[in-house]
Amino acid sequence: MNSISFPDGTQVPALGQGTWMMAEQPAQRASELAALRAGVELGLTLIDTAEMYADGESERLVGEALRGLREQVFLVSKAYPQNASHKRLPQACEASLKRLGTDRLDLYLLHWRGRVPLAETVEAMEKLVEAGKILRWGVSNLDTLDMQELIAAGGAACATDQVLYNLTRRSPEYDLLPWLLSRSIPVMAYSPIEQGRLLANTRLREVAVGLNATPAQVTLAWVLSQNQVMAIPKAGSVSHVQENRLAADLHLSASDIAALEAAFPRPSKRIPLEML
Ligand code: NAP
Repeated sequence: MNSISFPDGTQVPALGQGTWMMAEQPAQRASELAALRAGVELGLTLIDTAEMYADGESERLVGEALRGLREQVFLVSKAYPQNASHKRLPQACEASLKRLGTDRLDLYLLHWRGRVPLAETVEAMEKLVEAGKILRWGVSNLDTLDMQELIAAGGAACATDQVLYNLTRRSPEYDLLPWLLSRSIPVMAYSPIEQGRLLANTRLREVAVGLNATPAQVTLAWVLSQNQVMAIPKAGSVSHVQENRLAADLHLSASDIAALEAAFPRPSKRIPLEML
């Protein structure tokens, strides 16, 4: 599988696993645990979660899934904006670590921008790095101007921007992705299959049939074909994880890409970054 480099040289697989909406239905728990573990075995070792997801239960589920597997995984969690202050970020981080059953996060993200000044969040993140609680930090849902402000506020060590990006959400291509790329900051694409809403699209299905692949695989392969972009689909079953893993090996020809680009054109003007 292709790997993506963070600015500090650490490499991770381009395809990972998301966990939003996990741990919400007790009846799904066994399937979700099995899916996460199967994903790690298949090489999807980047796992994304957040204190917000299922009010902390998603982190608990990830912790349970990773028993015995923690060292194989690049673990990402996120803090609420209201927790991104000097005082509250260490507490939020400690609570996440406890729920995840680990002593450090590989990457800790500001979930979206709130009222805490970016400079304060940067300092609080750097202190967590110094304390060994997190190995690196980044942000999520920050558009180009916010990113420029972050860097100006001392945030040059930002490791990634996790943003909504898929065939129907191409606004980041206008200026955010080029800006990040020019600074060697990789992008983490969330909701890469648009939470399933994309899959019924007729033109996407035509491309998938031509490739003997599924629409989900084509949408993921398209995201993964972008430079320095990771994708973190959420899959609640082993069969979906297996299907998604194969997307990382799916080659889209120039004509496949042209068909997708015609069906889902890139924006011709700047559109503010969308978020879910
Ligand atoms: P997504 O990954 O685009 O879509 C998830 C949905 O697609 C689920 O309903 C899943 O169903 C389905 N699915 C997965 N694989 C499939 C397949 N092969 N065939 C058919 N359906 C499939 O959406 P997402 O969960 O919103 O985004 C992914 C992750 O990004 C999240 O889980 C979260 O970790 C992160 N995220 C971050 C933010 C942020 O603000 N930073 C916002 C949203 C999401 P099953 O569950 O039945 O497999």
